[in-house]
Amino acid sequence: MLEATLERLRTWARTNSPWIIHFNSGSCNGCDIEILATLTPRYDVERFGVKLQGSPRQADVLICTGPVTRQARERLLRIYDQMPAPKYVVAVGSCALSGGVFAGCYGVIGHIDAVIPVDIYVPGCPPRPDAIIDGLGKLLHKLEGASDAS
Ligand code: SF4
Repeated sequence: MLEATLERLRTWARTNSPWIIHFNSGSCNGCDIEILATLTPRYDVERFGVKLQGSPRQADVLICTGPVTRQARERLLRIYDQMPAPKYVVAVGSCALSGGVFAGCYGVIGHIDAVIPVDIYVPGCPPRPDAIIDGLGKLLHKLEGASDAS
């Protein structure tokens, strides 16, 4: 009973104030600029409590852009491992979903979920801030649903 109440409290805090970290694993920077635009007052993602975080140790959500290059693979894994559980991953852009225009390149391993598990996919090249906010909203709904089921 106490544990269930605590878990509901934790989920309430998490869904009302998700802290995110952003990692570019090989993007052309197009998607990264859209993520930065999403964080500006014009789109105001902070109204959902979303806050950009510098350290993976305090982040709930990892937002990844680009395909995973051979050089970035270890860094992506290290960042993911350093995040406390439960942790969530949002893949942003066609390259993160499928490798996109970089698929098959000699230095590219492939899409994000070839390396770490992905919870939400946001397609587009690059996706607009509205689409990124929609993806974050879907993640928060998913988390609320997980809490209701418990
Ligand atoms: S999806 Fe488009 S904008 Fe984003 S990293 Fe790939 S090529 Fe660049």
